[in-house]
Amino acid sequence: MTDGTRDLDHLIDLLAKLPGLGPRSARRAVLHLIKKRSLHLLPLAEALTKVGQTARECLNCGNIGTSDICDICQSDKRATGEICVVEDVADLWAMERAGVFKGRYHVLGGTLSALDAVGPDELRIPKLIDRVASEAVTEVILALSATVDGQTTAHYIADQLGGVTVTSLAQGVPVGGELDYLDDGTISAALKARKSF
Ligand code: ZN
Repeated sequence: MTDGTRDLDHLIDLLAKLPGLGPRSARRAVLHLIKKRSLHLLPLAEALTKVGQTARECLNCGNIGTSDICDICQSDKRATGEICVVEDVADLWAMERAGVFKGRYHVLGGTLSALDAVGPDELRIPKLIDRVASEAVTEVILALSATVDGQTTAHYIADQLGGVTVTSLAQGVPVGGELDYLDDGTISAALKARKSF
């Protein structure tokens, strides 16, 4: 085996580990990239290097962007007094894709879990409590999954927050389902029909 083949196999192995890909799609992707070297491969390599250097979590909300404070947190237009609490960045991006929420977000980074020894300090819960006190927040919208851990987390957060309205997305979020798997219309309906928690 030549060094060149080893390099190709290494690239295929790396791509095959990505969500939604496997060895077969990774091989197809690599062949495609090599055939379209200047159109796809080189720009992709450049973009990966750049994002590898600049991608980071927003210090305020936990969103992933390329600056210390993300565009959503920085935007005056998003200062509506509403914070939507989600488990994962994928959920935030799904809400943004649906384009129905105009406030700001807070990414917990998971749910409380007795089984996995995840307590409030392992999540961004203390930061959420700080933000509610310092950002003129009037409503906290909980967009957490309908799993036992998701709902335990929702109740814990609601108990910790005083002086603000706490709501949750209406039924329509499937049990254990992530927002990312819902279509835009379902997310929009679940947000509009949110109820007090
Ligand atoms: Zn942010």
